[in-house]
Amino acid sequence: MRLDDALDLIAEIPDFPEPGILFRDLTPVFGDAAAFASVIDALGEAVGDGVDRLAAVEARGFVLAAAVGYARGLGVALVRKPGKLPAVAGRVDYALEYGTATLELPVGSVEPGQRVAIVDDVLATGGTVAATAKLVESAGAAVSGVAVVLELAALGARSRLGGMPVEALRTL
Ligand code: 5GP
Repeated sequence: MRLDDALDLIAEIPDFPEPGILFRDLTPVFGDAAAFASVIDALGEAVGDGVDRLAAVEARGFVLAAAVGYARGLGVALVRKPGKLPAVAGRVDYALEYGTATLELPVGSVEPGQRVAIVDDVLATGGTVAATAKLVESAGAAVSGVAVVLELAALGARSRLGGMPVEALRTL
């Protein structure tokens, strides 16, 4: 399937998770084998070369990064919401639009000196990717770039991410 046709399957859900938010729902992409393959192939290219490992945040990021990792022959660091890990290498609190969130990096998931690409479904404010980058860097690794399916450009993630290279399969 052409990438554009695959991305056209992304649904728009008004007022989720809060009134006034237009949620982009990738469920139809995950459910369609041809669309999923097309998106994974494109994300695999978007990750770029010279990458030693991928990093992803639960839950949709895990699905995407696992498939990209398999396709590209790369392991994945599974960054988690708090309270799930037996051994935590790093923890970061970050601001959401309302309130705060926390992410944790598993011990041994990233090695010092590695170049790590961050994979996720949607780049909105960039807070999640910035927090993931902090965790990767706190483990002594470097972020090579960010690969996402969808970037919501109006939310200004790129300015929050400094000069970090960002590849989005579609920008809205
Ligand atoms: P950010 O931290 O960039 O504001 O938000 C990105 C994170 O929230 C991503 O991990 C993503 O999964 C989730 N997210 C934010 N907005 C949306 C959306 O419209 N659709 C989906 N599927 N995820 C979103």
